[in-house]
Amino acid sequence: MEKIKMTTPIVEMDGDEMARILWQEVKAQLVEPFVDLKEEYYDLSIVSRDDSEDQITADSALATKKYGVAVKCATITANVERVKEFNLKKMYKSPNATIRSILDGTVFRTPILVDGISPLVKSWKEPITLARHAYGDIYRASEMVIDRPGRVELVYTSEDGTEVRQLVHEFKESGIVSGMHNLDRSIESFARTCMQYALSIGQNLLFSSKDTISKVYDRQFRDIFKRVYLDEFIERFTAAGISYEYCLIDDAVSRAMKSPGGYVWATQNYDGDVMSDMFATAYGSNAMMTSVLVSPDGKYEYEAAHGTVRRHYYRYLQGEVVSTNPMALIFTWSGGLEKRGELDGNEALRRFGGMIRTAALQVIEEEHIMTADLAKITALPDPQVVTGHQFIAKTRNRLEQMLAAAE
Ligand code: NAP
Ligand code: MG
Repeated sequence: MEKIKMTTPIVEMDGDEMARILWQEVKAQLVEPFVDLKEEYYDLSIVSRDDSEDQITADSALATKKYGVAVKCATITANVERVKEFNLKKMYKSPNATIRSILDGTVFRTPILVDGISPLVKSWKEPITLARHAYGDIYRASEMVIDRPGRVELVYTSEDGTEVRQLVHEFKESGIVSGMHNLDRSIESFARTCMQYALSIGQNLLFSSKDTISKVYDRQFRDIFKRVYLDEFIERFTAAGISYEYCLIDDAVSRAMKSPGGYVWATQNYDGDVMSDMFATAYGSNAMMTSVLVSPDGKYEYEAAHGTVRRHYYRYLQGEVVSTNPMALIFTWSGGLEKRGELDGNEALRRFGGMIRTAALQVIEEEHIMTADLAKITALPDPQVVTGHQFIAKTRNRLEQMLAAAE
């Protein structure tokens, strides 16, 4: 069979540890034999980031800006322990944070649903995609301990020197105080990205906050979402038969637990942080969660939501047989190639991207072959536990059969 041709390169961001090993295997087994891969490769392993003093991370994000689609493997985020382990020159910022700030993007997380592995919430039939605002609020707050009675005020001094003061609290005893902020521009681009994403997958969009309590701060979020919707999206949403709705966060949570899923839920920063872990667990496994970073101008960076799976890696290095789930990594390549095909009007590439995913799902659903994490929770009879490498090989067999049948 002739390999599928590409017109525009895809940006590949390689990573660390067990994820890196499986990442390269997915590429070698499920992509390169079938696609005449055109790519710009960036090694974001911790060693390579250290060699370039992290310039390579910024370069990979700039390449994504240029070409529009990237696929990223999980990477180590440096901390004190890692600085020692790899003798790093610095404690580098998280690559994801660097990439996110260059692309000004929003992260959308969607679970991978498989027949035979049911979510803990019985009503969920379709995935709920969670979009988390990634700027400000408590993540950029200025906090203070109040250790004696006194008055705390918000003071805003504008550039022209005018001053506005507002009482936060008249402390009669010790306590704590926090000052947080957000930017209209950031909220606007979050709203726009969420609306674009909902349109691109043809699902309804829900945005939640707590504007009954936070009548100014959260209200501003709500108003900006409404304005962006009315000014830029209402016609396209109507034409696509999808809706935008605002909802109180408590309402949104109870709705999520009762609904069949199949929508995009946009959340403020903290809500998204908390809800995404709950979703990942409730849908079955961290290894079954995909993630895509989308910028307001339509650039896409696909990745797995899990980390480098370090515990498995150290066991693997000792020669132990480990069963690490490559599903989210497979979905990353699949989603990236599919999007590249879509943007380039390259139908063969777009279709092939989707096929990789289908092949992997069929291995579980039809052959009951899966990694150990899934075997623990599946309802399928007699699951056969394999290693990540074996799972990828099985997926390749399926893929070859599907391609042969399509000839
Ligand atoms: P992790 O790599 O997600 O792994 C945590 C645990 O979750 C694993 O030990 C394993 O549990 C389970 N798990 C995760 N992915 C799995 C998979 N594909 N198959 C089977 N089980 C899987 O998180 P971590 O150990 O906290 O972090 C390790 C490194 O990853 C850190 O250096 C962190 O900075 C980095 N990280 C990177 C990203 C990213 O690049 N997007 C995200 C998160 C963390 P069992 O051991 O119980 O089997
Ligand atoms: Mg979190």
